[in-house]
Amino acid sequence: MKALLLKGPQALTIESVPAPKPSTGEVVLDVEITGIGGSELAAIQDPGLRPLPNIMGHGLCGATSSGERVAVFPLSGCGRCDSCHQNRHQLCNEWSLIGVQRPGGFAEQVAVPESALITLPSVLSWEQASFIEPFANSVNAWERAQPKPTDSVLIIGAGSLGLGLAAAARHHGCASVAVSDPSPTRLEAALALGASEVARGFNTGFDVVFDTVGSEQSRTACLQRTRKGGKAVFLGFASQSLSVDFSRLIREQKTLIGSFVFSREQFMKAMELASGCHSDWVRNLSFDEVFAELQAYSNGNFEPVKSALRPQR
Ligand SMILES: [Zn+2]
Repeated sequence: MKALLLKGPQALTIESVPAPKPSTGEVVLDVEITGIGGSELAAIQDPGLRPLPNIMGHGLCGATSSGERVAVFPLSGCGRCDSCHQNRHQLCNEWSLIGVQRPGGFAEQVAVPESALITLPSVLSWEQASFIEPFANSVNAWERAQPKPTDSVLIIGAGSLGLGLAAAARHHGCASVAVSDPSPTRLEAALALGASEVARGFNTGFDVVFDTVGSEQSRTACLQRTRKGGKAVFLGFASQSLSVDFSRLIREQKTLIGSFVFSREQFMKAMELASGCHSDWVRNLSFDEVFAELQAYSNGNFEPVKSALRPQR
């Protein structure tokens, strides 16, 4: 089968590899759509904890051999520790994501545990379904921060994570939801999903600020735009570290919140939010277009609302 192999920094090649062999309890899916996002962008610059060569793609949907349309819940843990028992598998010492530590959806087929399959509603297009996984991250971030409906909220970045937060804000009845992004196309999508105000940037303070980008610039902006006593929530991965005036954070009593992936329940909530997305927001790509798209992202061209690999096309 055809697959995209990550072999090192800036080394992403299309290769013919053996079809996956399912272990006990696993099934093989024909991959229909796999979202391309910040994780893949970060990984082609620094593969990090991925074993190489790596088949990326953790936001994937496909069809079973009987033709059932499914999304894949990509996270697993050891199943034995306190974190796993509390349904917080991302805190397990053995946490693993399909498409990070094991082969994912940048291929024509993938073997996944049968327990990871979630049936897609027939009303959801493949393109809409590609928003479920990123939106599940947004649901977790929202639930970690727990904004009140009267809080003013700023979302930095209108990629899939930011759009999911805008949808979550509307779902929870939040009236003041600002979204910042350089892309007018993405800001239009944010308005469609529930943002009350959009702009390239904002200069006022907010009760809760989400940074979905994770660059030094966006993290700094997140801390600056958070009001005294407010909450700053971080879920982007663009850079590793940040220099911060900690004394000021202490005096201003700001709460810093980290948010990573999601539970199965949050994944199900994201499915509902994804139904508000428009199918034509997604740029469908073939295998040979993915690397160029990631390079365009690296160069700051974030014009499509979302890009996705369509392995069967
Ligand atoms: Zn565990």
